[in-house]
Amino acid sequence: MQEKITEVRFLKGVGPKRSEDLAKVGVRTVEDILFYLPSRYEDRSKVVKIRELKVGEANTVEGEIAAVSNKRTARGLSMFDITLADDTGFIHAVWFNQPYLKDYLLKGAKVTLYGRVELYDRVQIINPEYEIIKDTPDESIHMKRIVPIYPATNELSQKYLRGLIFQATANHCRFLVERLPTYIIARQRLVDIKFAVRNIHFPIDLENLEKAYRRIVFEEFFMLQLALAIKKRSAAAEAGGLAHAVSGELIGQLSGALPFELTAGQKKAITEIERDMASEKPMSRLLEGDVGSGKTVVAAHSLVLTVQNGFQGCLMAPTEVLARQHFIALSELLMPLGINIALLIGGIDPRAKKELLACIKEGKVDIVVGTHAMIQEAVEFRKLGLAVVDEQHKFGVTQRAVLKEKGYNPHILVMTATPIPRTLALTVYGDLDISVIKELPKGRKPIVTYWVEESKRRKVYDFTREELGKGRQAYVICPRIEESFPGSRTKNVTATFEELKSRIFTGFEVGLLHGRMSSAEKEKVMKDFRKGKIKVLVSTIVIEVGIDIPNATVMLIENAERFGLSQLHQLRGRVGRGEHESYCILLADPQGAEAVRRLKAMEETLDGFRIAEADLEIRGPGEFFGTRQHGLPEIRFGNILKDFDIMELARKEAFEIVKRDPALKEDHHRLLKAALMARFKDKLDLVNVA
Ligand code: ADP
Ligand code: MG
Repeated sequence: MQEKITEVRFLKGVGPKRSEDLAKVGVRTVEDILFYLPSRYEDRSKVVKIRELKVGEANTVEGEIAAVSNKRTARGLSMFDITLADDTGFIHAVWFNQPYLKDYLLKGAKVTLYGRVELYDRVQIINPEYEIIKDTPDESIHMKRIVPIYPATNELSQKYLRGLIFQATANHCRFLVERLPTYIIARQRLVDIKFAVRNIHFPIDLENLEKAYRRIVFEEFFMLQLALAIKKRSAAAEAGGLAHAVSGELIGQLSGALPFELTAGQKKAITEIERDMASEKPMSRLLEGDVGSGKTVVAAHSLVLTVQNGFQGCLMAPTEVLARQHFIALSELLMPLGINIALLIGGIDPRAKKELLACIKEGKVDIVVGTHAMIQEAVEFRKLGLAVVDEQHKFGVTQRAVLKEKGYNPHILVMTATPIPRTLALTVYGDLDISVIKELPKGRKPIVTYWVEESKRRKVYDFTREELGKGRQAYVICPRIEESFPGSRTKNVTATFEELKSRIFTGFEVGLLHGRMSSAEKEKVMKDFRKGKIKVLVSTIVIEVGIDIPNATVMLIENAERFGLSQLHQLRGRVGRGEHESYCILLADPQGAEAVRRLKAMEETLDGFRIAEADLEIRGPGEFFGTRQHGLPEIRFGNILKDFDIMELARKEAFEIVKRDPALKEDHHRLLKAALMARFKDKLDLVNVA
């Protein structure tokens, strides 16, 4: 927009009340309204004769109002009814609860209607959109074109929004200024911004809509990638001074102590991490590896590296159960090397905790393992050299920012078992370097996966009993903790536990684990399961990530149709960790086609990346990470799956610009910089990048 900001109240039809309503959807200026984009379109360009209308289809019709009536239904709803006639016949149209229409839709008026033809006791169009054809025909807004459909609200009707935006595009598009530098527009063959905005709302035809869409999506993605490029650059530009020497006695001892040969992927990841940590720039690396690919050893190696260089390290896990497991694994591996490891989780005795915190501060503890919350809130380090963040689907920089506020600037390694498709990795983790462990350790047998219907439950129990008889262990996962309503068919963990314990797996120790238990109780159960005392662990998905018990060979999932694909894959990853053949059994009588797709996908592939892609396609990116809060940047318009090609082009251009002109000082980047700062404000450090 021009230098001065035009408030939306200067548009015709916007009073104080409307200004408020618009502000609620984030629209304050005329520019905001120009970028209030349609969520979809309806092609109403073709007017159909009344005789050719078909029941069930939505169409545009035009004609004269032959009769009107205003009635009440039996239930007291007002019902405004017209008869519309053209030269081929007539049809009824009704509107419920809009009695005021009688003042607009008068007998004899010529109107255009758009709506679905339905058959109740007669053929009619219910609640169609309408537009009155004027004698001096204006350009039609709501009909006879490809019509934009906006995200409407209770206060802001579709029609009002469309009318307002039509007005804004007609009168204000010409004031829009280009933010993208001309050379990018030329190179990417984009249409200019005025054309794009006009046509994204009221396209002349589909071809122009396509061009407008490309341009708008490109700009949206480009801004995001530019922010990521700048973030990455400013993180790299900080002189942390934590350059590590990568070889040494401890590292040598660790390599000698490993009970197995590292896989090629692990070795490569370690090399990449060493290269980062040897540099004075703080590392920001994401380690992606399917469940069971052996990320923990890579973390251990990195932690030893920092300890060897005289620094402390920490490992943050999302849950206490996981923190404890990491603590055990690291202790086994690293205590023999004389490294001091401490576990910091809730529920430890306050005096012991105080003492522990003092030791950490004095540098007597080399490695602290704990939950994200504990480490971020409570701990002061003497010299923090590396922070490992486990199983976290968040911007790694969030952790960096928190640690930085406390005065640390460590290397950061984020680990995730969610194989993030490239599509998402570039948007969510676009500012991190990525290492991927593709293969699983040698000798792993593929997990045999079956989807079994409820009617064959007995067989599943028999099979599980056989495995237990061979000395193996089993997980049984239920979706709920308690019965949701009496007689609910969704399995709840407590009832299942009782049933399995008293009737099905008699003679075997059965344990129960769920999120409402105290951490002491949880710890005891996990310990007993790890030791093999408990043979069958009945649990909710609290065990979802990271648990490593090689002797468990059966993963039985109740109501498997209730779980997301990535969740199922994570759960399956709890077995197949040892030398024995393992099984994942999905008990499910799915209702919808989507659930069937998920179950089939599970049967068909063990490849976490393929699973993740399928999941992303089925659920969309917002849901893919569980909730919106997981740091997914806000993308309002483009679709990062469908428009991935545009994302890649935008990324390439953005990173190139930042390489050449990191602080966006060049004159043709001036407006770009202003727009970027307006959108990302304090999240960007443009001073530090140059
Ligand atoms: P994840 O990547 O899911 O965190 P873990 O680090 O828990 O996987 O490793 C899973 C199991 O594989 C552990 O029991 C670990 O000791 C074992 N493991 C890791 N690396 C190797 C390897 N190179 N060869 C054999 N076993 C390995
Ligand atoms: Mg793990």
